Amino acid sequence: MAFYPARWDNRVVYGERVWPLQDRGKASFFLRGLSMRRRVLVVCAVAVVTALVSPVWSAAEHPRNVILIGWDGAQREHVDQCLGRNELPSLKRLVDQGKYVKIDIEGTTDTKAGWTQILTGYYPKVTGVYSNGRYQPVPEGLSVFERLEKQFGTESFVTVAVIGKDRHCGEIDPPQKVRLDAEEKQQNNAGDQKKKAAKKNQQPGAGKKPAGKIVEENGIQYRIVPGSPYYGMHTALEVWEFGLMEDQKVGTRAIELLDKYKDKPFFFFVHFAEVDHAGHKYGENSREYNDALISNDLWTGKIMDKIKELGLADKTQVYVTADHGFDEDGKTHKFAPYVFLATNNKAVARDGRRQDVAPTILEAFGADLAAVQPGLDGISLTKPDSRAAAKLGPAKGAQAAPKPQEPPKRPDVVYVPTPQEVVEKMLEMAQVTKDDLVYDLGCGDGRIVVAAAKTYGCRAFGFDVDPRRIKESNENVEKSGVGDLVTIVQKDIFTLDLSEVNVVTLYLLPSLNVKLIPQLEKLKPGSRIVSHDFDMQGVTPDQVVELTSANGADHTVYLWTAPLKKEPQTTTE
Ligand SMILES: [Zn+2]
Repeated sequence: MAFYPARWDNRVVYGERVWPLQDRGKASFFLRGLSMRRRVLVVCAVAVVTALVSPVWSAAEHPRNVILIGWDGAQREHVDQCLGRNELPSLKRLVDQGKYVKIDIEGTTDTKAGWTQILTGYYPKVTGVYSNGRYQPVPEGLSVFERLEKQFGTESFVTVAVIGKDRHCGEIDPPQKVRLDAEEKQQNNAGDQKKKAAKKNQQPGAGKKPAGKIVEENGIQYRIVPGSPYYGMHTALEVWEFGLMEDQKVGTRAIELLDKYKDKPFFFFVHFAEVDHAGHKYGENSREYNDALISNDLWTGKIMDKIKELGLADKTQVYVTADHGFDEDGKTHKFAPYVFLATNNKAVARDGRRQDVAPTILEAFGADLAAVQPGLDGISLTKPDSRAAAKLGPAKGAQAAPKPQEPPKRPDVVYVPTPQEVVEKMLEMAQVTKDDLVYDLGCGDGRIVVAAAKTYGCRAFGFDVDPRRIKESNENVEKSGVGDLVTIVQKDIFTLDLSEVNVVTLYLLPSLNVKLIPQLEKLKPGSRIVSHDFDMQGVTPDQVVELTSANGADHTVYLWTAPLKKEPQTTTE
């Protein structure tokens, strides 16, 4: 299988699709290029047809320009409070001219997942960008930038991105295959460069250690580093700058570029990073986080003033939105699905999702959304929404956010049973044998441990803190006649010793998987961990399998093998 999963096809065809990461790594870069180009041709063919029907600018119907301003990590509730205290006069000014709506996030509440969804209008299945730790270059042609350049012609239209972050948004690293023995050397050099760069106050982010899957070919180990999500799209723009860090630098540069490109219609993406950075350092409820929102607002205001000064105020739509919120009172955004969108586009009519932003912008510019290929996952915010309620948060089924200071004995997750076919797939991927000892952490009604004992004849322990689940599990064990192999224990899973366990099965929230890492690191080499639906941020899975259960729901199963492969650079930025 080629490096890029066959996205177009798999949306229609397969009930199950498997892409062992090993095989991805083995595909040659030449083949990768080819397969990408073929897909681009499909997109181009559609775009050419659109471009031939050349748009006529009509100020009445469509704006001449759009500016999308990103407030990375701005939590809706905190923004609401600031608005209530009149601390965000620029945002208020924008809202007074148009609309302020709620955006609820489907998918991982982090930066890569966020801006990719906002800038393309697609779910991760199309873009391949699931989270800061699981990503690939967005296939060419799918971003708003590329679509607008195609629609209006590169000569007559300007696209610009000025980005505050140096990682997770804006970086343009190509996919790489690095020999491990060479990598150490490279990292040492990069480390030196970083020190020098810091001295000279150059662009930060140099010298980071790459994350990625390790593969072996002919006895030589390589690290396959996925390309940045923006790798394919950035060349389509007139200006792509990132890593400016401070709001002042981002804002000043954006204003300079507005001056430079004022004579042509344009789409600007201006990304402010200070809110996210302050949140990670000082917490969501800090003075610093609040001040950073005020700083975002100040520079948003200066950009709006510039538009006015250039005489473009009536011809320019401005949108302000965020990629993710922030954990209430926390320094992370693991479950932070509540953000907002403010705009002077009066046609915006409703609350929406992250993936609705791109269709809204494309529609404003007069694009025929029905003709966009592949079909957009988002719906323009000017159009009615008949979708089912958003599946909030880090991943599907995660509506219940764990409260940070919950008493240890209360259940950390709302119990959702794993469908039987997913149970079977988990045990199959873990390659359970009769000699294995299987632990299910959060065993629910005991279906996984019962299936393991029945199918493979192995010993299995199920753990849960909820007495109701313990009772159900014991009934299930008795009914299934596996009482000699299966033991159900009421115990807090974070206190378990896993050193003798061969297989661990999980259906917890991602944050809880991460919390288990210190215990999972004690597993013997060769032990397996399988998780239903939720990954483990910072640890590379050996296999990721997606399948559709009988009721039509999509499921993902992750497999890790001890010792865990930690990704040093995966953060929650
Ligand atoms: Zn962050």
